[in-house]
Amino acid sequence: MFNKVAIIGLGLIGSSIGHATKRGKLAGEIAGFDISEDVRARAAKLGFTDAIAPTAEDAVRDADLVILSTPIGAYKNLAEAIAPHLKAGAILTDVGSVKGAVVRDVAPFVPKSVHFIPAHPIAGTEFSGPEAGFASLFDGRWTILTPLPGADGSAVQNLKKFWQGCGAQVEVMEIAHHDLVLAMTSHVPHLIAYNIVGTAHDLEQVTEGEVIKFSASGFRDFTRIAASDPTMWRDIFLNNREAVLEVLGRFNEDLSRLQRWVRDGNGQALFDLFTQTRAIRRSIISAGQDTAAPNFGRDKKDQ
Ligand code: NAP
Repeated sequence: MFNKVAIIGLGLIGSSIGHATKRGKLAGEIAGFDISEDVRARAAKLGFTDAIAPTAEDAVRDADLVILSTPIGAYKNLAEAIAPHLKAGAILTDVGSVKGAVVRDVAPFVPKSVHFIPAHPIAGTEFSGPEAGFASLFDGRWTILTPLPGADGSAVQNLKKFWQGCGAQVEVMEIAHHDLVLAMTSHVPHLIAYNIVGTAHDLEQVTEGEVIKFSASGFRDFTRIAASDPTMWRDIFLNNREAVLEVLGRFNEDLSRLQRWVRDGNGQALFDLFTQTRAIRRSIISAGQDTAAPNFGRDKKDQ
């Protein structure tokens, strides 16, 4: 599909894109760059790129598709550095979990001859680094493209085909809408997990280790989410502040309502809500976005 693809940032998402691009034979050549020398050396051994460049500028030279896959806090400086080296007609895209801030930070540097199309694959794990990536990460998962008004239709189609070649389903969305939807489905759930695990950690001081020792699966599922990369998640909350605060306001109101039902012993209201939420879990499974296996398909011994 592309003569040369450049991937900047070779962690979980960048390495998975490399593996998926190779699996789908989507590029004649894949060049990679990471700011960390250690990551560059590890990535070279793992072989999900054809070449590791010494600088981002070198990696993007002559590339038809450039993908930023670093934490979003690094985008602005990166965009400024690579902009003069981008090939005319190239597509510049990214994988950042927030889109409004990415457009704010990157768009001012993009030359008129380059197609800037922000994107976000809704796929990941709580692991980081080049070893964490795998070719099937995007299979059956959604990638959202958020082209700017007036974006070139054929460039958007080419990027769509690239993500489909990586195994993803693709949807196009307006930028602010993306940030609100993701605040609800991803950012606030992570904030809740960080909060509950933090509270349990404080409690642990009181109960001398019992919270950890006897942790039930509900708490353990929160700890998996709360183990996600601190840099990436700090950047998400710094860059999607308004949408996160809007959803959090609504969450707090609903939590107060639940608190009242528990205090009043309103079993019917609790039962009705839990019946509704169970139906949501079933629809996620029937949409193919999670497994129906008990305990997310973990081995019995791991439960
Ligand atoms: P990751 O595993 O931590 O990888 C990011 C890599 O980028 C690290 O090796 C980091 O090096 C490197 N980096 C930092 N600044 C750089 C720069 N200026 N130039 C080149 N490389 C640089 O993170 P990830 O999970 O792949 O996430 C990357 C992006 O994907 C983020 O924008 C995130 O919002 C998005 N995303 C993540 C997920 C997920 O579940 N993880 C899902 C969808 C989208 P150092 O470690 O040395 O800083």
